Amino acid sequence: MKTAIYPGSFDPVTMGHLNIIRRAASIFDRLIVCVMVNSEKHPMFTAQERVDLVRRSAKDLANVTVESSSALLADFARSRGSCVIVKGLRAMSDFEKEFQMAQINNKLYPDLDTMFLTADNRYMYLSSSVVKEMGRYEADLSDFVPDEIMQDVLDRIHLINTKQEG
Ligand code: ADP
Repeated sequence: MKTAIYPGSFDPVTMGHLNIIRRAASIFDRLIVCVMVNSEKHPMFTAQERVDLVRRSAKDLANVTVESSSALLADFARSRGSCVIVKGLRAMSDFEKEFQMAQINNKLYPDLDTMFLTADNRYMYLSSSVVKEMGRYEADLSDFVPDEIMQDVLDRIHLINTKQEG
C-alpha cells in the first residue's frame, strides 16, 4: 500500500490545497494530510482547528486522513511508513524553497522522495495569505475557500478585524 504525506500550514485550507489533495488521493492508496505546527508562525487557526477544517473539506475522500505534527517532516513520514511527500508547485517562486526542502528531507531519510504536482491554473496565485487578505476587505471568497468551511473562515477573519480595530 502506497502512502503519501501532504504537509503544509493550511491556515486555512484553500481550493488550491483541496485540488492537490484530490489529485494525490487518486494517485496513492492513502494520503495523510499533515498540518505542520510551526512555532515561528502565528496562525489564524490552531492546529486542531486546521485539522478539523481540512477534514470537513475532504470528507468525501475515503482514503484521506488528516493529522497534525510538530515533528520533523522526515520523521513523521517514516513513522507513518510513507516514502513520498507531495507538494504543490505554483509559480517559479515556490521552486527554490521546495527544491531545497526536498534535498534536505532526502538527506535525513534517503528513502524519502518528494513529488510535485503543478497547481491547477485556476489556483496558481492562491495562498492562505491571499484568502486572509481578501477576507479582510470582505471580497467574495467562494472560488477560493471550500463551502464546508466558508463560515468558519469568515467568522475568524471578522473576529481578528474587530480585535484590531478595537
Ligand atoms: P500557503 O500558506 O502558501 O498556502 P501551505 O504551507 O499551507 O502554504 O501549503 C502547503 C502546500 O500546498 C505547499 O506545497 C504549497 O506549495 C501547496 N499549495 C499552496 N497553495 C496552493 C495552490 N493554490 N495550488 C497548488 N498548491 C498549493
